[in-house]
Amino acid sequence: MNDLSKLAIHTITTKQWNLETAIEKYAEKGIHHITIWRQFLENRDLKKIRKTIKDMHIVSLCRGGFFTHPEKDKREDAIHDNEKAIGQAAELHAPLVVLVCGSHPDQSLNKSREQIKEGIERILPLAEDKNVRLGIEPLHPMYADSRSAINTLKQANDICQEIESKYLGIVIDVYHLWWDPQLEDEIRRCGDMENIFAFHISDWITPTTDLLNDRGLLGEGCIPIRQIKTWVEEAGFSGTHEVEIFSNRYWKTDQDKFLELIIKSYQEHCL
Ligand code: ZN
Repeated sequence: MNDLSKLAIHTITTKQWNLETAIEKYAEKGIHHITIWRQFLENRDLKKIRKTIKDMHIVSLCRGGFFTHPEKDKREDAIHDNEKAIGQAAELHAPLVVLVCGSHPDQSLNKSREQIKEGIERILPLAEDKNVRLGIEPLHPMYADSRSAINTLKQANDICQEIESKYLGIVIDVYHLWWDPQLEDEIRRCGDMENIFAFHISDWITPTTDLLNDRGLLGEGCIPIRQIKTWVEEAGFSGTHEVEIFSNRYWKTDQDKFLELIIKSYQEHCL
């Protein structure tokens, strides 16, 4: 199958390219959806960027979150940064801010989870006011020390159930969740609550040589991507399939060739 109508790419995936180049290159290949990472917006005029984006559809802005810290001042800083992210999303007409919720090694996971809930509750009124949705992205437990204390889809579903807002939902990333024996059931539960806001894809390489930046092209690893996609779509999700690959290996290569490989691997292992 050649259908690229649901393919989205995260700007971080082709990190060598600035935002303008990424938009141009994706469009040339018939890709109409993009997720923008906030570092690509630093010191930039968002109005100009909005013009550059033209008819490219922005799926989401990555990322907000990191609500956790033992010091209150630092937690307040995080709230302000999240408010800024929501403002940026509104200005760019991005409908969703992805939340990497945070964790801190100097406090318990339960403490971090309380702070995450408090943080989300603080920023939700602004998100509602600006009509920007928030998506909790559960992260693989290898990041439970410092990146996220939300490590399973069940935990994310539980928080959404407790807070209950149509502006709060979940980002399902196969890289973080593929190992979970409860995944199928929790995807169904997430769908029943109409909370599947986004779907991220990449693959798990063996051996993984870098905890952050050694993700694979689709089909290069052991994640049953098509199976998980089927569960997500059976649960009612009809949005885009976002390729999000952090890879020291691929970032060093010719990004045009890398983009071609992404498209090929998407057609062969996701569609
Ligand atoms: Zn992701």
